[in-house]
Amino acid sequence: MRDRTRSYTTDLPRIGLPFLVNMRRRLTELSPGMQISCTTESGVLYTSRHADGYAMTINGVTRVIRTTITQAGYGIRQWYACPHCVKRVAKLYIGRKDIACRECWKLHYKSQSGDKLDRMRMSIRRQRYAIWGNNDLTNNLFNRPNLFPKPKGMRWETFNRRLARLMQYELAYWRAFSPVVERITGALKRKVSLI
Ligand SMILES: [Zn+2]
Repeated sequence: MRDRTRSYTTDLPRIGLPFLVNMRRRLTELSPGMQISCTTESGVLYTSRHADGYAMTINGVTRVIRTTITQAGYGIRQWYACPHCVKRVAKLYIGRKDIACRECWKLHYKSQSGDKLDRMRMSIRRQRYAIWGNNDLTNNLFNRPNLFPKPKGMRWETFNRRLARLMQYELAYWRAFSPVVERITGALKRKVSLI
């Protein structure tokens, strides 16, 4: 069963490394003490320079955001340090009264396509078990149901109708299954380009 108390990364607005680059450039152009603001779903986020890095304020709560540097080829790359666990991160999540990394917020990555496939797999199993019961043959989704025997006592008409419906559903499942690999690859590519 899916745990409904989970929170997902998509639940909170986030700032990534492009935001950091942009923010640094804009703050360098401003005189000290000036702040920049941006509107997020959690409220207006104000950022200013601070002796130790940056100060970010959301709904009256201020966090000092330090940054950390790693070598990247001939240049350097700047990261956020989470104000709570101090770990180096590429994204910070903005809550209504706090700013922290994914782990500190206990956020999970959500795969919507994965959820959909989970539901489809559950439905296939339900339909299979209703006709043939739960056994080694029906448990393995790679076994095609047109090879399963008609259960004793079931009318051919009923069996054929239910089998046809199941076959159609399983075909839709395998069609939905293959693009997921492409989608995951796409997400990885986007992630790399953000860094
Ligand atoms: Zn953290």
